[in-house]
Amino acid sequence: MSSYAIPLWEKPALPIAGTDALFPVRRIYCVGRNYAAHAREMGHDPDREPPFFFAKPADSIVPNGGDVPYPVATKNLHPEIELVVALGSGGWNIPVETANDCIYGYSVGLDLTRRDMQGVAKDMGRPWDLSKGFDNAAPLTAIRPVSEVGHIEAGTIRLNVNGETRQKGDLADMIWNVPETINYLSSLIELKAGDLIFTGTPDGVAAIERGDKLEGHVDGLDDLHISLK
Ligand code: MN
Repeated sequence: MSSYAIPLWEKPALPIAGTDALFPVRRIYCVGRNYAAHAREMGHDPDREPPFFFAKPADSIVPNGGDVPYPVATKNLHPEIELVVALGSGGWNIPVETANDCIYGYSVGLDLTRRDMQGVAKDMGRPWDLSKGFDNAAPLTAIRPVSEVGHIEAGTIRLNVNGETRQKGDLADMIWNVPETINYLSSLIELKAGDLIFTGTPDGVAAIERGDKLEGHVDGLDDLHISLK
């Protein structure tokens, strides 16, 4: 067996609540504009066009309770509160009817976005990669397994900043629900155990500043606490 020419890095992983085990993170997929009111506030018709996806690096995860340094190259950092699905299995063309069987558990995540950089990318027809995928761009709570919390399909999703509610919606208002999202995404790439899927954010996105304290909530899961430094 060959050895590696440079030191191997640690595999990104999330804690699993209530256990000592870790959930290794393979890839992070994110759904764009999956709540009608958020699609509208971003200037789009929320009619049911097919879902679209972007990705973040696996090592952009930040554990719950951590500090997030204010990223470089932006003056307009937006946190998007999202339900995150952690896959325990995967495949190609997973049917809607059996998609939930692939889910290991759920987490509450922030899709941090350099909104000004994303705006330039949109205007110029350039990729979103670095406006969405940068260091510390994916704070996440410990995963709660399905065996403990069941499937999370409806209920409040909320982001408070310094105690004030910024975003509030209901998971039932997703344009594409979780099984439909897994079905569609698995027609484009092979999903595998260890993949995370950010499922989109409700309306109310706005900038955060250094010193802000963020509290993310999804009914049935742990609250996410992040400070922006
Ligand atoms: Mn998002």
